[in-house]
Amino acid sequence: MTVKATKARVEAILTRLRALNPEPRCELYYETPYQLLISVVMSAQATDKSVNAAMVELYKAGLNVDSVLAMGEAGFLDKIRRIGLAPTKARNVLKLSAILKQKFNSEIPRSREDLESLPGVGRKTANVILGEIYREPTIAVDTHVFRVGARLGLHREGTPEKAEQKLLAVIDPTWLPMAHHWFILHGRYTCLARAPKCDLCCLVDLCSSKENFVSGTK
Ligand code: SF4
Repeated sequence: MTVKATKARVEAILTRLRALNPEPRCELYYETPYQLLISVVMSAQATDKSVNAAMVELYKAGLNVDSVLAMGEAGFLDKIRRIGLAPTKARNVLKLSAILKQKFNSEIPRSREDLESLPGVGRKTANVILGEIYREPTIAVDTHVFRVGARLGLHREGTPEKAEQKLLAVIDPTWLPMAHHWFILHGRYTCLARAPKCDLCCLVDLCSSKENFVSGTK
């Protein structure tokens, strides 16, 4: 398929996903950019639901750079023990909080380079912050975005980084960063990893993978 044809299909796909959910929201609970950064760091290999369950009360109470530094690593770890990889995440959160205070006046930096210099912050996390907080035309490729994009035939890449470049090449910037949310939600609730709900999918006639899943063949 040509890039032009792929772009036309992407328009059709995103138009339908927007019709179903015109204002998609990040499912991680947060009240400040710092809290979002903390939650995204903690969501690695953990569900948004488990991160929210651990953090919502802390966030409502105003968790910020200073209060995390005051808790110290052991104190913060105590609050997040129920989340997977908690010791590593607590260490990273304390380190990045100290850097934010010293180098960035406790603000969340807007440049990718600065974001990725923070402990525990990789390209995907930086993309989430750039898109969600600063509305930059990015797409964070997590497991859902990667899978949905591949099944819809929008990329055939083997890594999230390459998939991101391919998706950015065929998605008009006006759809970004909302496309990130639509693909995540589609992957989380319809195009499930093991048993996608093709019979209920609004994209079934646009999908190059449906024959792999309908009739229970896979
Ligand atoms: S038709 Fe099936 S495989 Fe294709 S996007 Fe929909 S749920 Fe996923």
